[in-house]
Amino acid sequence: MSVNFKSLRKILELEQKKGYVDSAVFGGLDKFLHNWAGQAVESITNPRLLRRFHHLVNSSYASLTKQQRKEWVNGVFDFLAETEGGERDEAKLPGNGIKSPGKIKAPIASKQTSQAGGYSIDSPITIIKGISTSLTTKFGKLGVKTVRDLLYFFPHRHLDYSQKKFISQLEGGEEQTIVANVWQSQVTILGGRRGTEAIVGDETGNVRVVWFNQPYLAKKLLTNARVVLSGRVSLFKGRHVFESPEWEILEDKGLVHTGRLVPVYSLTQGLRPRQVRKLMKEVIDQWAWQVTDFLPPELKARCNLLELPQAINQAHYPEDEAAKDRARVRLAFDELFLLQLGVMRRKHDWQKSQPGSAFDTDTSLLEAFLKSLPFELTAAQHKVLGEILADLQKPQPMCRLLQGEVGSGKTVVATAALLVAVANGYQGAFMAPTEILAEQHFATICELLSRMGQLEEKETYLQSYSGLLSRPLTVALLIGDVNRARKQELQQRIQNGDIDIVIGTHALIQKGVEFHQLGLAIVDEQHRFGVTQRSALRQKGFSPHMLVMTATPIPRTLALTLYGDLDLSIIDQLPPGRQAVKTKWLKPGQRDSAYAFLRRQVASRRQVFIVCPLIEESEVIMAQAAVAEYQRLSEEVFPDLKLGLLHGRLSASEKDEVMHRFRSNELDILVSTPVVEVGIDVPNATVMLVESADRFGLSQLHQFRGRVGRGQEQSYCMLLAENPSEVGRERLDIIEKVQDGFELAEEDLRLRGPGEFFGTRQSGLPDLRMAKLSDITLLEMARSEAIKLFQIDPGMGMSEHSLLAKELARVWPEAGEWS
Ligand code: ADP
Ligand code: MG
Repeated sequence: MSVNFKSLRKILELEQKKGYVDSAVFGGLDKFLHNWAGQAVESITNPRLLRRFHHLVNSSYASLTKQQRKEWVNGVFDFLAETEGGERDEAKLPGNGIKSPGKIKAPIASKQTSQAGGYSIDSPITIIKGISTSLTTKFGKLGVKTVRDLLYFFPHRHLDYSQKKFISQLEGGEEQTIVANVWQSQVTILGGRRGTEAIVGDETGNVRVVWFNQPYLAKKLLTNARVVLSGRVSLFKGRHVFESPEWEILEDKGLVHTGRLVPVYSLTQGLRPRQVRKLMKEVIDQWAWQVTDFLPPELKARCNLLELPQAINQAHYPEDEAAKDRARVRLAFDELFLLQLGVMRRKHDWQKSQPGSAFDTDTSLLEAFLKSLPFELTAAQHKVLGEILADLQKPQPMCRLLQGEVGSGKTVVATAALLVAVANGYQGAFMAPTEILAEQHFATICELLSRMGQLEEKETYLQSYSGLLSRPLTVALLIGDVNRARKQELQQRIQNGDIDIVIGTHALIQKGVEFHQLGLAIVDEQHRFGVTQRSALRQKGFSPHMLVMTATPIPRTLALTLYGDLDLSIIDQLPPGRQAVKTKWLKPGQRDSAYAFLRRQVASRRQVFIVCPLIEESEVIMAQAAVAEYQRLSEEVFPDLKLGLLHGRLSASEKDEVMHRFRSNELDILVSTPVVEVGIDVPNATVMLVESADRFGLSQLHQFRGRVGRGQEQSYCMLLAENPSEVGRERLDIIEKVQDGFELAEEDLRLRGPGEFFGTRQSGLPDLRMAKLSDITLLEMARSEAIKLFQIDPGMGMSEHSLLAKELARVWPEAGEWS
């Protein structure tokens, strides 16, 4: 059986189902049939069948009545049945209401995806006629390996060549399209090199066309050929000239390069746009119809979604803008829907397959801890702690995302949860994105413990407190910087269960770290970690409870889609007494008055952060720049003040020492690379000065600003920008006015687009190519459909979901068995 027969059958079945209104394919059946017949004819050898074939495909479907259409379709089914013999593939969606026409022979079941000669859309692209080894390599560089990859290799935009004009209507300076006759074409010398010049005309006039460096065109544009030209028209000596337009001979097989919405693909060296467009058109015409539409029909109807083959077709070669949009919606829906099902499945498996440890949360250790705090928890902290404790009491492992504005007090809540794990005889792990932050958490937790217990053992990386449990409670810091022997010793003690709470960086999830009994894993500032690292930490325990904390406020629906495997808690309140940080964007001329202002703040015993510019190249260069700035400031600007320097290249003990001196107010000013972005907590610091502030994203600026305003004093954020771009300026305007992190995140999403906004956080998630994360309505629709489906059939075992199960297994291979 030829591949083509199956695609025709699918189309006709759809047409039948839709009631013969010629809506199964965009552009109508006749057009499809014409293309199809061109390819199918080769595979028919029997002369009798060939005659019937010609008879069938030469009728004009569009002009038939409904009854005639029905008869015609049945005739084609008969023909197909005869041609295909017993080989026919009869894998059908259940419930699609299609009865096989009576005369068709009983089908022999074959695999859904198997096609002619064993080819399927998951075959390598080498099976496509006209794809050479060198083309294969070039496509390989673009990540395109299989026919499916090619079908999903969407253009990043379209040129609108769809508005055709008469020659008399042409205007200079614009991109336009005409359909015309070639009067003459010849090789000519243009700008000293050989090119092509032609005169073309329509009923309204003639126009000159030139192509630079393309003398071979002269032979292709034969006199009297009908051509479509799309491109820029300029004025030369008062007359219109088309300059190197896209061209195409008008045949009835459909336009590819001109006269329509023309796809623009992201190409790599050696792939020519015309070549790729032509190839894509052929591939789509031949293969798109064979993509299995895995969405249940009722769902598609409910959400008004396009059929998948049509969507793929229209995403490449849309009929018009509206069709292009509908195609995008369908494809984006697929991505979000599958993503959502995948994350829900992961959570489901995680919670069901691995029994966790139910903790007793009514412990005196927790009570003592809360009593010892120098402040009352805010109502929001109480509420969130309650949610966490409720999770910890259950035997299923907790999977929770804790969102809280910068400075809302997430660390205290995390510490409380860690202590519950410890009181229950388990270990707790606390993972931070930077060493500085890990060290700070270590210092904070030790400080909090010292309020309740007596210090027993104190080393740089380890402290023990007695009086809290029947044995000493031990906290350790595990970061990359710890020397080998020391690290081994720590690892040994973690494995023995001798250490109760381990705080660290990525070092925590590396090989060699084995826990005795990990009961709770906390990941701080989630946006630095991908899903992969999250699961790596999970695997360190048999099935630890998991709490992920982030200060990046993400719109709720978005959070639920991206982190659908996590429950959501929000601390939506700051501790009392906090004042809005006064934020000012300063012009270069105001630098001196800014320095004078810092001086006055220092004079009243406050402290200052100065953040050096972000330098993309490397951390080494960024560190060098910070060193230079530190020297300049300490020698020329503030020789009388005490300055410290912090950057990523310092050793752990150097960083520790600087932070310690800053925290204890021995330093007035901390000059730093952007490493201070996250988490640093020094309540006495009241000024944050950011150099080249226009280079940072809004969320980042908000994080910097969050380093101050943590105490009772009025705080300030000063933003210096030499020569901001338009977007930079817009950002500075916004951050000056807006204090609310949520609002800023939304603005950031709008300004930067989701790709950059989420950056590495996307890692571990399937690709989102068509979905825009700002498209909240679609997100919500995909999510609610996924939830609905998951409630009915979490294991994807129902027969109407079998295609979906297959698709899920394909995009989420690691999620284990689907159905
Ligand atoms: P973030 O949520 O940004 O991680 P932190 O946990 O670092 O915030 O807390 C910010 C500061 O607020 C810390 O100095 C902390 O001691 C303090 N803090 C936390 N909770 C409260 C509270 N309920 N009342 C007063 N201060 C608090
Ligand atoms: Mg924090």
